[in-house]
Amino acid sequence: MSVTEAGIDYETMTAEALVAQILRESTGKGVCLTNSFQTEDMVVLHMLKQYLPHVPVIFLETGYHFKEVIAYRDRMVAEWGLNLVNAMPATTLAEHESKFGLLYLVNPTECCRIRKVEPLMRSLEPFDWWFTGLRREQSPTRAGLKKVEDHKLPTGRHLKKVSVLADWTWDQVSGYAKAHGIPELELYARGYTSIGCEPCTAIPAAGADARSGRWGGKKLECGIHTFSEKS
Ligand code: SF4
Repeated sequence: MSVTEAGIDYETMTAEALVAQILRESTGKGVCLTNSFQTEDMVVLHMLKQYLPHVPVIFLETGYHFKEVIAYRDRMVAEWGLNLVNAMPATTLAEHESKFGLLYLVNPTECCRIRKVEPLMRSLEPFDWWFTGLRREQSPTRAGLKKVEDHKLPTGRHLKKVSVLADWTWDQVSGYAKAHGIPELELYARGYTSIGCEPCTAIPAAGADARSGRWGGKKLECGIHTFSEKS
């Protein structure tokens, strides 16, 4: 969807204007943000929390994150007073590895399904508006992203997925973060450009797509942005 029945074209709106527009339409109810604590998500959170200081911030707690990500998450939760929702898999990491071993090595799609996709599906059920920090530039799989999309969850519920930074470049993201004093996850300074679970994240080759360092180049998406049905 791009143009609403009221004639509002989401695609032509700035990120800030789109955040304000969606919060008017939703009256601030049923809104959440998924946040991996990468800079894009922090920029969207910074915009959202000006209106909704206690917006639910969903973090997929896979058990495999870099210790730097967990430390940064905890720091920002404390400094910004965030309403953090840790989306937990049905099994602990010990149970998971006892049953499957290092599943991310042999079947990363199944590992992501268990530790990311299923917890996210459960976490999204109460919400009608799902904000993300996705950008078209990040990878070929995101090139066709619309700023506001209608998605159907496996339970049949519909919700709107809102990606206000869809048309932003990395320089815009980084510039916004600097201008607003948003601290950056230290892993960027080491050369990481897309940061997920530690075993499945590497520093990409110079000039390659930002997400090419994920899963050893075997895949580009974990499934959390492909499991729901776009309508
Ligand atoms: S990113 Fe890797 S470790 Fe994390 S859930 Fe997916 S396969 Fe498992």
